[in-house]
Amino acid sequence: MAGGWFRRRRDPEPIAEAHWQRAADALATSVSLTPAQWRRLRTLATGFLGEKTFSGAQGFTVTEEVRIAIAAQACLPVLTLGLGAYRDFLEIVVYPAQFRVPRREIDEAGVVHESLEWLAGEAHDGGPVVLSWADADPAATQGPFNVVIHEFVHKLDMLDGEADGIPPLASGRRAAWTRALHAAHTDFCDLLDALERAIPRDIDPESEAADPWYAQLPLDPYAATDPAEFFAVSGEAFFLDPESLRARWPDWYAQLASLFRLDEIDESALTEE
Ligand SMILES: [Zn+2]
Repeated sequence: MAGGWFRRRRDPEPIAEAHWQRAADALATSVSLTPAQWRRLRTLATGFLGEKTFSGAQGFTVTEEVRIAIAAQACLPVLTLGLGAYRDFLEIVVYPAQFRVPRREIDEAGVVHESLEWLAGEAHDGGPVVLSWADADPAATQGPFNVVIHEFVHKLDMLDGEADGIPPLASGRRAAWTRALHAAHTDFCDLLDALERAIPRDIDPESEAADPWYAQLPLDPYAATDPAEFFAVSGEAFFLDPESLRARWPDWYAQLASLFRLDEIDESALTEE
Protein backbone atom coordinates (compact mmCIF):
# COMPACT_ATOMS: atom_id res chain seq x y z
CA MET A 1 0.00 0.00 0.00
CA ALA A 2 1.36 3.46 -0.93
CA GLY A 3 2.01 5.76 1.99
CA GLY A 4 2.16 2.81 4.34
CA TRP A 5 4.96 4.35 6.40
CA PHE A 6 2.57 5.98 8.84
CA ARG A 7 1.03 2.60 9.54
CA ARG A 8 4.30 1.17 10.76
CA ARG A 9 3.73 -1.00 13.76
CA ARG A 10 5.17 -0.16 17.11
CA ASP A 11 7.70 -2.66 18.39
CA PRO A 12 5.69 -4.92 20.68
CA GLU A 13 6.31 -4.65 24.41
CA PRO A 14 8.28 -7.66 25.64
CA ILE A 15 6.42 -10.07 27.92
CA ALA A 16 7.82 -10.04 31.44
CA GLU A 17 9.68 -13.28 32.22
CA ALA A 18 7.56 -14.13 35.27
CA HIS A 19 4.32 -13.60 33.33
CA TRP A 20 5.47 -15.74 30.43
CA GLN A 21 6.69 -18.51 32.70
CA ARG A 22 3.34 -18.71 34.47
CA ALA A 23 1.44 -18.99 31.16
CA ALA A 24 3.93 -21.50 29.72
CA ASP A 25 3.91 -23.67 32.86
CA ALA A 26 0.11 -23.88 32.82
CA LEU A 27 0.04 -24.68 29.11
CA ALA A 28 2.86 -27.23 29.40
CA THR A 29 0.61 -29.52 31.45
CA SER A 30 -1.41 -30.25 28.29
CA VAL A 31 0.74 -29.27 25.31
CA SER A 32 4.23 -30.57 24.64
CA LEU A 33 6.58 -28.43 22.55
CA THR A 34 10.30 -28.45 21.95
CA PRO A 35 12.38 -25.65 23.53
CA ALA A 36 12.64 -24.02 20.08
CA GLN A 37 8.86 -24.15 19.68
CA TRP A 38 8.34 -22.55 23.11
CA ARG A 39 10.65 -19.70 22.13
CA ARG A 40 8.85 -19.26 18.83
CA LEU A 41 5.51 -19.27 20.68
CA ARG A 42 6.73 -16.49 22.97
CA THR A 43 7.87 -14.39 20.01
CA LEU A 44 4.49 -14.82 18.32
CA ALA A 45 2.53 -14.16 21.52
CA THR A 46 4.51 -10.94 21.97
CA GLY A 47 3.56 -9.83 18.45
CA PHE A 48 -0.04 -10.93 18.99
CA LEU A 49 -0.32 -8.75 22.11
CA GLY A 50 1.08 -5.80 20.16
CA GLU A 51 -1.47 -6.23 17.35
CA LYS A 52 -4.71 -7.28 19.02
CA THR A 53 -6.96 -5.48 21.45
CA PHE A 54 -8.63 -7.17 24.39
CA SER A 55 -11.83 -6.08 26.03
CA GLY A 56 -13.65 -7.47 29.03
CA ALA A 57 -17.38 -8.14 28.95
CA GLN A 58 -19.81 -8.23 31.89
CA GLY A 59 -17.35 -6.26 34.02
CA PHE A 60 -14.48 -8.71 33.50
CA THR A 61 -11.06 -7.12 33.97
CA VAL A 62 -8.57 -8.36 31.38
CA THR A 63 -5.32 -8.55 33.34
CA GLU A 64 -1.81 -9.05 31.97
CA GLU A 65 -2.08 -12.69 33.07
CA VAL A 66 -5.27 -13.18 31.04
CA ARG A 67 -3.88 -11.48 27.92
CA ILE A 68 -0.66 -13.50 27.95
CA ALA A 69 -2.37 -16.82 28.65
CA ILE A 70 -4.82 -16.27 25.77
CA ALA A 71 -2.10 -15.03 23.39
CA ALA A 72 0.08 -18.08 24.10
CA GLN A 73 -2.73 -20.51 23.29
CA ALA A 74 -4.02 -18.50 20.32
CA CYS A 75 -0.58 -18.62 18.67
CA LEU A 76 -0.28 -22.44 18.78
CA PRO A 77 -2.19 -22.99 15.49
CA VAL A 78 0.01 -20.39 13.73
CA LEU A 79 3.32 -21.44 15.25
CA THR A 80 4.84 -21.68 11.79
CA LEU A 81 2.25 -19.86 9.66
CA GLY A 82 2.83 -16.66 11.62
CA LEU A 83 0.46 -13.89 12.71
CA GLY A 84 -0.49 -13.00 9.13
CA ALA A 85 -3.02 -15.83 9.34
CA TYR A 86 -4.91 -13.72 11.91
CA ARG A 87 -4.86 -10.51 9.86
CA ASP A 88 -8.62 -10.24 9.33
CA PHE A 89 -9.58 -9.35 12.91
CA LEU A 90 -8.27 -7.26 15.79
CA GLU A 91 -10.37 -7.86 18.84
CA ILE A 92 -10.65 -10.52 21.53
CA VAL A 93 -13.59 -10.17 23.90
CA VAL A 94 -13.34 -11.99 27.23
CA TYR A 95 -16.28 -12.91 29.47
CA PRO A 96 -15.65 -14.10 33.03
CA ALA A 97 -17.44 -17.41 32.34
CA GLN A 98 -19.70 -19.00 29.72
CA PHE A 99 -21.97 -16.53 27.98
CA ARG A 100 -25.39 -16.80 26.37
CA VAL A 101 -26.06 -15.94 22.77
CA PRO A 102 -29.39 -15.92 20.95
CA ARG A 103 -29.84 -18.69 18.39
CA ARG A 104 -32.40 -18.75 15.63
CA GLU A 105 -33.07 -22.00 13.81
CA ILE A 106 -35.61 -23.00 11.22
CA ASP A 107 -36.67 -26.62 11.42
CA GLU A 108 -37.69 -28.94 8.61
CA ALA A 109 -41.32 -27.83 8.96
CA GLY A 110 -40.26 -24.20 8.46
CA VAL A 111 -40.91 -23.27 12.09
CA VAL A 112 -38.52 -20.69 13.55
CA HIS A 113 -37.06 -21.60 16.94
CA GLU A 114 -35.46 -18.85 19.03
CA SER A 115 -33.32 -19.90 21.97
CA LEU A 116 -30.41 -18.88 24.14
CA GLU A 117 -27.31 -21.03 24.03
CA TRP A 118 -24.42 -21.13 26.52
CA LEU A 119 -21.02 -20.85 24.85
CA ALA A 120 -17.39 -21.09 26.01
CA GLY A 121 -16.17 -19.38 22.85
CA GLU A 122 -17.24 -18.03 19.50
CA ALA A 123 -15.32 -16.84 16.43
CA HIS A 124 -17.06 -14.26 14.26
CA ASP A 125 -16.30 -14.25 10.55
CA GLY A 126 -14.20 -11.10 9.98
CA GLY A 127 -14.87 -10.00 13.57
CA PRO A 128 -13.77 -10.71 17.12
CA VAL A 129 -13.03 -13.93 18.92
CA VAL A 130 -15.14 -14.19 22.08
CA LEU A 131 -13.95 -16.36 24.98
CA SER A 132 -15.01 -17.39 28.47
CA TRP A 133 -12.01 -16.99 30.81
CA ALA A 134 -13.26 -19.81 33.05
CA ASP A 135 -12.82 -22.09 30.03
CA ALA A 136 -9.80 -20.36 28.44
CA ASP A 137 -7.66 -20.32 31.60
CA PRO A 138 -4.98 -22.97 30.88
CA ALA A 139 -4.65 -23.62 34.62
CA ALA A 140 -8.27 -24.80 34.69
CA THR A 141 -8.15 -26.86 31.50
CA GLN A 142 -8.99 -30.53 31.84
CA GLY A 143 -8.94 -33.29 29.28
CA PRO A 144 -8.39 -32.89 25.54
CA PHE A 145 -10.30 -29.59 25.32
CA ASN A 146 -8.94 -26.17 24.56
CA VAL A 147 -11.46 -23.51 23.61
CA VAL A 148 -8.76 -21.01 22.59
CA ILE A 149 -7.15 -23.39 20.09
CA HIS A 150 -10.64 -24.34 18.89
CA GLU A 151 -11.78 -20.78 18.15
CA PHE A 152 -8.50 -19.73 16.57
CA VAL A 153 -8.54 -22.78 14.29
CA HIS A 154 -11.97 -21.49 13.17
CA LYS A 155 -10.24 -18.17 12.47
CA LEU A 156 -7.68 -19.91 10.24
CA ASP A 157 -10.55 -21.67 8.49
CA MET A 158 -12.39 -18.37 7.96
CA LEU A 159 -9.41 -16.62 6.38
CA ASP A 160 -10.74 -17.59 2.95
CA GLY A 161 -14.43 -17.09 3.70
CA GLU A 162 -16.94 -19.13 5.63
CA ALA A 163 -15.80 -21.86 8.01
CA ASP A 164 -15.99 -25.09 6.00
CA GLY A 165 -13.07 -27.09 7.41
CA ILE A 166 -10.82 -25.99 4.53
CA PRO A 167 -8.35 -23.21 5.35
CA PRO A 168 -6.54 -21.26 2.60
CA LEU A 169 -4.18 -23.74 0.97
CA ALA A 170 -2.05 -23.77 -2.15
CA SER A 171 -4.25 -25.10 -4.95
CA GLY A 172 -2.13 -28.26 -5.22
CA ARG A 173 -2.85 -29.19 -1.61
CA ARG A 174 -6.55 -28.40 -1.49
CA ALA A 175 -7.84 -31.64 -3.03
CA ALA A 176 -5.84 -33.90 -0.71
CA TRP A 177 -6.89 -31.86 2.34
CA THR A 178 -10.56 -31.96 1.38
CA ARG A 179 -10.42 -35.71 0.71
CA ALA A 180 -8.74 -36.48 4.05
CA LEU A 181 -11.09 -34.15 5.96
CA HIS A 182 -14.27 -35.64 4.53
CA ALA A 183 -13.07 -39.24 4.85
CA ALA A 184 -12.18 -38.74 8.51
CA HIS A 185 -15.36 -36.76 9.29
CA THR A 186 -17.55 -39.44 7.66
CA ASP A 187 -15.69 -42.19 9.52
CA PHE A 188 -16.16 -40.29 12.80
CA CYS A 189 -19.90 -39.87 12.19
CA ASP A 190 -20.13 -43.64 11.52
CA LEU A 191 -18.18 -44.39 14.72
CA LEU A 192 -20.49 -42.11 16.69
CA ASP A 193 -23.62 -43.73 15.22
CA ALA A 194 -22.33 -47.22 16.05
CA LEU A 195 -21.42 -46.13 19.56
CA GLU A 196 -24.81 -44.57 20.22
CA ARG A 197 -26.47 -47.81 19.13
CA ALA A 198 -24.22 -49.70 21.56
CA ILE A 199 -25.22 -47.65 24.62
CA PRO A 200 -27.77 -49.75 26.56
CA ARG A 201 -31.30 -48.40 26.37
CA ASP A 202 -31.56 -47.87 30.12
CA ILE A 203 -28.70 -45.34 29.98
CA ASP A 204 -29.56 -41.79 28.99
CA PRO A 205 -27.03 -40.84 26.26
CA GLU A 206 -27.09 -37.23 27.56
CA SER A 207 -26.18 -38.27 31.12
CA GLU A 208 -22.80 -38.79 32.74
CA ALA A 209 -23.48 -42.53 32.83
CA ALA A 210 -22.90 -42.53 29.05
CA ASP A 211 -19.46 -40.90 29.37
CA PRO A 212 -17.48 -44.20 29.36
CA TRP A 213 -18.93 -44.95 25.91
CA TYR A 214 -18.10 -41.54 24.47
CA ALA A 215 -14.62 -41.72 25.98
CA GLN A 216 -13.83 -44.51 23.49
CA LEU A 217 -14.07 -42.04 20.61
CA PRO A 218 -10.90 -40.49 19.19
CA LEU A 219 -12.53 -37.03 19.41
CA ASP A 220 -15.27 -35.22 21.30
CA PRO A 221 -18.70 -36.06 19.77
CA TYR A 222 -19.14 -32.36 18.93
CA ALA A 223 -16.67 -32.95 16.06
CA ALA A 224 -19.45 -34.74 14.18
CA THR A 225 -21.45 -31.48 13.82
CA ASP A 226 -19.98 -30.54 10.43
CA PRO A 227 -16.58 -30.41 8.66
CA ALA A 228 -15.75 -26.99 10.20
CA GLU A 229 -16.26 -28.30 13.75
CA PHE A 230 -14.41 -31.49 12.85
CA PHE A 231 -11.40 -29.38 11.82
CA ALA A 232 -11.56 -27.22 14.99
CA VAL A 233 -11.91 -30.21 17.35
CA SER A 234 -9.16 -32.04 15.44
CA GLY A 235 -6.98 -28.94 15.90
CA GLU A 236 -7.43 -29.18 19.68
CA ALA A 237 -6.55 -32.89 19.58
CA PHE A 238 -3.52 -32.21 17.38
CA PHE A 239 -1.94 -30.20 20.18
CA LEU A 240 -3.38 -32.02 23.21
CA ASP A 241 -3.80 -35.68 22.26
CA PRO A 242 -2.20 -36.27 18.86
CA GLU A 243 -1.75 -40.04 19.20
CA SER A 244 -5.41 -41.02 19.00
CA LEU A 245 -5.85 -38.71 16.02
CA ARG A 246 -2.80 -40.12 14.24
CA ALA A 247 -3.73 -43.72 14.99
CA ARG A 248 -7.28 -43.48 13.61
CA TRP A 249 -6.76 -41.15 10.62
CA PRO A 250 -3.12 -41.05 9.52
CA ASP A 251 -3.99 -39.16 6.31
CA TRP A 252 -5.98 -36.51 8.16
CA TYR A 253 -3.26 -36.23 10.80
CA ALA A 254 -0.66 -35.73 8.03
CA GLN A 255 -2.74 -32.89 6.55
CA LEU A 256 -3.00 -31.20 9.94
CA ALA A 257 0.72 -31.69 10.55
CA SER A 258 1.51 -30.10 7.21
CA LEU A 259 -0.68 -27.08 8.05
CA PHE A 260 0.66 -26.62 11.57
CA ARG A 261 4.12 -27.83 10.41
CA LEU A 262 5.39 -28.22 13.94
CA ASP A 263 8.21 -30.52 12.92
CA GLU A 264 9.78 -27.90 10.72
CA ILE A 265 10.67 -25.49 13.49
CA ASP A 266 14.33 -25.78 14.29
CA GLU A 267 16.95 -23.67 15.97
CA SER A 268 18.28 -22.26 12.73
CA ALA A 269 14.87 -20.84 11.81
CA LEU A 270 14.68 -19.06 15.14
CA THR A 271 18.00 -17.30 15.11
CA GLU A 272 16.75 -15.11 12.26
CA GLU A 273 14.32 -13.29 14.56
ZN1 LIG B 1 -16.57 -24.54 16.89
